[in-house]
Amino acid sequence: MSKKVRVRFAPSPTGPLHIGGVRTALFNYLFAKKHGGDFVLRIEDTDQNRYVEGAEDYIVESLNWCGISFDEGPNKNEKFGPYRQSERKDLYKQYADELIASGNAYYAFDTAEQLDAERKGHEEKGKTFIYNWHNRERGRLVNSLVLTEAETKAKIEAGEDFVIRFKSPQDETLHLTDIIRGNIKIDTNVLDDKVLFKSDGMPTYHLANIVDDHLMEITHVIRGEEWLPSLALHKLLYDAFGWEAPEFAHLPLILKPTGKGKLSKRDGDKMGFPVFPLEYTAPDGTVSRGYKEDGYFPEAVVNFLAFLGWNPGTEQEIFSLEQLVADFDLARVNKAGARFDPDKTKWFNHHYMQQQLDLELAEQFKAIRPELSDIDVNYIALVVGLIKERATFVNDFWDLSHFFFTAPTAYDEKASKKALKEGTADVMTKVIELVNATDDFTVENLQTNIKGWITDNEIGFGKVMMPLRLALVGALQGPDVFDIMYMIGKTETVSRIENLIA
Ligand code: GLU
Repeated sequence: MSKKVRVRFAPSPTGPLHIGGVRTALFNYLFAKKHGGDFVLRIEDTDQNRYVEGAEDYIVESLNWCGISFDEGPNKNEKFGPYRQSERKDLYKQYADELIASGNAYYAFDTAEQLDAERKGHEEKGKTFIYNWHNRERGRLVNSLVLTEAETKAKIEAGEDFVIRFKSPQDETLHLTDIIRGNIKIDTNVLDDKVLFKSDGMPTYHLANIVDDHLMEITHVIRGEEWLPSLALHKLLYDAFGWEAPEFAHLPLILKPTGKGKLSKRDGDKMGFPVFPLEYTAPDGTVSRGYKEDGYFPEAVVNFLAFLGWNPGTEQEIFSLEQLVADFDLARVNKAGARFDPDKTKWFNHHYMQQQLDLELAEQFKAIRPELSDIDVNYIALVVGLIKERATFVNDFWDLSHFFFTAPTAYDEKASKKALKEGTADVMTKVIELVNATDDFTVENLQTNIKGWITDNEIGFGKVMMPLRLALVGALQGPDVFDIMYMIGKTETVSRIENLIA
């Protein structure tokens, strides 16, 4: 690779960014950083009908949250700018004109009704209408290939709506190469003459995308599989302009958890997982959940996205963004669809939870529980250290730890049946004595005193430890009983045992 690697993520701001889009951005980023190149964000907003207010901000915030930072983009290092296609609008017409001049494109004046009629007529005969070599010069379609130059000019001057179509070649075989899929052969006779430009002054995706990739000196186009059918046209456009085409890599689809079909928002709604990085409120007010708000760490999201289509070829599953940059290779991206596994995303989150500092987690915990507002964050951090191994999300913390902060207000029924026997009150009264007698109130001393007493009197551990746990927790769950006693302190321990006796 001699030229500096330059890649781009080119989303259309038509709504929230699906995690598939985040994965495309991630793979572009990894490839760029791996090769010391640039990662460009370009907003493809030429289709004004599908434009959604706020979608661009959502894209930028999502990438920022994941730590996928772009080197150039709207309002950032704009050396090839602007990076919004709507702001580059005036630039594209000359390229469409250039293609007309070189015979690679033509004006077409067919109305929507005429094209509809063609489509229906074909359907009735069991055929599919494609606007191409087969019919573009037969006289039924109205374009500059059949009109005289003067007629064409007159129509344009009279303000008739037109489009500029690409004139796809006849009877040729295209040899395309994709880094992930290898060599692909395409018969040009199956291609349709795609619209490149419209009389409203806007280019279509195809023209704007190729012109911008060229002007922005993009060396590698890494994008979703859904764009593979456009590859032939894109290659033909590069050839028509006489430009060197970038290399292409089409990433595999992300499949439903069942492995059948593309992952959709509906799958997430049905099975209870987000498909968007951040929560999204649509213009109509409907809210879609996001990984961030569901309590995922960005490191976990990046890690699971990396494995949707790529693998390192080893057993290693845990990769930081830096490690991914070091190990990423397009040669290890599969062409087969990647099955999305919601359990695996939780597994990653559990892993990254253990890596977080207890104090940081404590701050997040405190922020979501009003009960903790007056409690010292250092105490909360100690609690977090005792329970986080059993948590996947910070949201799980309260259920696992409320008894470190408040006394039980009720006792679990089943647990009570199991733990409370005749004589429990006497045993618990004795435990209170032992607790009170433990001057140096450490986990070790408590353990020695209480366990020692149990052994000396041959009482049976369950008879003491079960009601004791019930008194402290309200149920028969939780971390080590002696840890809990130490954490809540002597007075609170005694008070909770008294409550149970009462
Ligand atoms: N604007 C296209 C999209 O929304 C970009 C496709 C491409 O990367 O060429 O995905």
